[in-house]
Amino acid sequence: MSTTKQRVLITGAAGFLGSHLCDLFLSKGYEVIGMDNLITGDLKNINHLEGATDFSFVQHDVTDYVEVEGPLDYILHFASPASPIDYLKIPIQTLKVGALGTHNLLGLAKAKKARFMIASTSEVYGDPLVHPQDETYYGNVNTIGPRGVYDEAKRFQESITMAYHRVHELDTRIARIFNTYGPRMRLNDGRVIPAFIGQALRGEELTVFGDGSQTRSFCYVSDLVEGLYRLLMTPYHLPVNLGNPEEITILDFAKEIVKLTESSKGISFKALPKDDPLQRQPDISKAKELLSWEPKVQRHEGMQKTLAYFKTLSQTELNKTEHRDFNKHNTK
Ligand code: UDP
Repeated sequence: MSTTKQRVLITGAAGFLGSHLCDLFLSKGYEVIGMDNLITGDLKNINHLEGATDFSFVQHDVTDYVEVEGPLDYILHFASPASPIDYLKIPIQTLKVGALGTHNLLGLAKAKKARFMIASTSEVYGDPLVHPQDETYYGNVNTIGPRGVYDEAKRFQESITMAYHRVHELDTRIARIFNTYGPRMRLNDGRVIPAFIGQALRGEELTVFGDGSQTRSFCYVSDLVEGLYRLLMTPYHLPVNLGNPEEITILDFAKEIVKLTESSKGISFKALPKDDPLQRQPDISKAKELLSWEPKVQRHEGMQKTLAYFKTLSQTELNKTEHRDFNKHNTK
């Protein structure tokens, strides 16, 4: 007798995290439906799944009514622009996918009695006034700044998810994801890792914003998706931080990349974008306790794998860069 596989809907499936989630769920024997409107996602991230019996792809914008035939056991809402350059270019889509998209998918989860997980973010903490950030911190967000469209969409997303949990008893999960990196990051999304690696591979100087004293903590993607899976399988409805607590200044990180890539060009400095958080480090005590999870991949190892991925890109792709121009936004 054949057993029916559990079915998962993953939105943002052609994106960086979404595509790694598709791989993870397929490797664990689920049937996966990937959905993406391809505004920031790219089909090349899921090309390798073409023809896989348990995978199907639907091109759809989740800010419009979402229809999926048949049962669904899980819905993971990972569709969203997720880099500062995107928030500036497509601010309204960023707000809509976090607000309207989440509402549509919650409705779908309710109709299908599916467990529902959202990709929330450390951005809900804004430019944090407490350090490191644990889940009880309410954040310090500039609602009308360039990042406000993402930060507030994600804060609303958490609120509406909790409302569906409380009112409709929906089985929900909220992952607060900190900076994550690895293969399939978009080269030209302006985020620091693809930006630095791209610059090094093109033989350019690495552009450090500000004096580089701002900090970030980078989690390798395989660690992150494992944490997400564990959270999904754990009955806990409040937000959980997932990230790597190993913190580094952007300047030291640039120096690490210069060394790793054997770049001969060094580093140059540019203006710090508006509302760029000064420090960010997850307190992952809750994830450790609840999920018995913590990151395993050291930055050096993760960065080597990431560099190897970027080296597979063609010269044409490497040259397709977009420069972040925050200056006109800085004064507003
Ligand atoms: N950053 C930088 N040079 C770049 C791109 C980014 O110094 O070419 C800095 C940026 O100002 C920020 C950090 O790197 O302080 C991380 O930026 P990213 O956009 O990757 O993520 P986020 O700010 O959302 O954490």
